[in-house]
Amino acid sequence: MNSLERHDLPLSKIPKRWYNVLPDLPRAPDDYLDPATREPVGQDFMERLLPKALIAQELSPERWIGIPEEVRAAYGLWRPTPLFRAHALERHLDTPAEIYFKYEGASPSGSHKLNSALAQAYYAKLEGIDRLVTDTGAGQWGSALSMACSLFGVKALVYMVRASFEGKPYRRDFMETFGQRVLPSPGPHTAYGRSLLEKTPGHPGSEATAVTEALETVRLNPGDRFSMGAFANHVLLHQTVVGLETREQLEDLGKQPDFLVASVGCGSNMGGFAFPFVGDKLAGADIGILAAEPAACPTLTSGEYRYDFADGSGLGPMARTYTLGHEFVPPPIHSGGLRYHGAAPLVGLARHEGILDSRAYAQKEVFEAGSLFARLHGLLPAPETAHAIRATMELAEECRRTRRRAVIVFCYSGHGLLDLGAYGSFNAGEMADAEPYECGLAAGDPALAGLGGR
Ligand SMILES: *Cc1c(COP(=O)(O)O)cnc(C)c1O
Repeated sequence: MNSLERHDLPLSKIPKRWYNVLPDLPRAPDDYLDPATREPVGQDFMERLLPKALIAQELSPERWIGIPEEVRAAYGLWRPTPLFRAHALERHLDTPAEIYFKYEGASPSGSHKLNSALAQAYYAKLEGIDRLVTDTGAGQWGSALSMACSLFGVKALVYMVRASFEGKPYRRDFMETFGQRVLPSPGPHTAYGRSLLEKTPGHPGSEATAVTEALETVRLNPGDRFSMGAFANHVLLHQTVVGLETREQLEDLGKQPDFLVASVGCGSNMGGFAFPFVGDKLAGADIGILAAEPAACPTLTSGEYRYDFADGSGLGPMARTYTLGHEFVPPPIHSGGLRYHGAAPLVGLARHEGILDSRAYAQKEVFEAGSLFARLHGLLPAPETAHAIRATMELAEECRRTRRRAVIVFCYSGHGLLDLGAYGSFNAGEMADAEPYECGLAAGDPALAGLGGR
């Protein structure tokens, strides 16, 4: 690992262990199923897909899992991240609530995603894996993995949704600057990509096409492994550094959270931020956990809890969680990181068990919240993060009406400095609210009937 040594903040403030919420949940998550047999996935299936260390973490019964020293040293590039108090927003809203936020925008790739990318690159190196292959939508995950692989000396191949590949070149430039390979999806490099392009030249691609091409590539190259930016339990595990730090920072202030708020695309920043408080909540602490989603893709708010394909095509395992249906293609909103049909199974389970709640917001009110926040605090949030800010504002307004001095803490998942095109169209008054999601769930794939129901 090409690590830097940090001399200002003590490394001792960075957690030494990740927190695994599995043993503390009211019940275990349902098994992943092999899409071919509909039986629980076997070890062989998983080992062909992922580094062994991550498979072990995926279903570990251990509450605490040690963070390798190399990964902690890499976290030292920017961790611990600050916990800020948003006094100006409180004054603007004239609320008695106290608003805090955990600033993951300090990450050198711009978002929380680097927390897991570094761990995944480290284990790949340790296990002698040639290359990690992944998919990226708007580019945040691809950016994080490209940087992490560069630091640990592993190759990365990123399939990037063609619409972003062409429309958002800076993310691609970022990944290529770290020496990694970026291909548009669909593209001519896989059989699946070629078949799509034959039928529809200029196909814009989607998360689903990019995952399918990544999985096809991994299947054909024995030295490759697949890498996931969210969804899997091990990714949420790595992200718990966010919540563990927050918990300690609040304790140092003598504060207890009444509300924890995070945006949810798949659930990795939510899981990482809120899960370290779930034990307190289940032991009786009165903590509300709120997921903020886009109205155009409200997985937890309007989805169904059932088995579905994790990817769009049925190559990867099936999981039981909230889903809008694997064939649902969300409309093109500017929060690319939130356009995913399913929630991470652990976040889905937490929702199903009543541990967390969700609300959905339209695009324009979200950008209004994001630009207000920038003007008040000088920090320009990623559009995804702006959902959490919008939800926080709503809670703070409710506190004004009820005169409640609640402590609200939200996860500032990333900065918006590579999303200026979206702010540009908002500023020009050209932004529309995408069609809100209509609760017209495809009447359930008959192939999935009988798999644990809703
Ligand atoms: C990817 C991303 C999200 C959404 O993904 P989750 O897995 O739900 O956390 C939110 N914010 C930012 C800045 C992101 O890059």
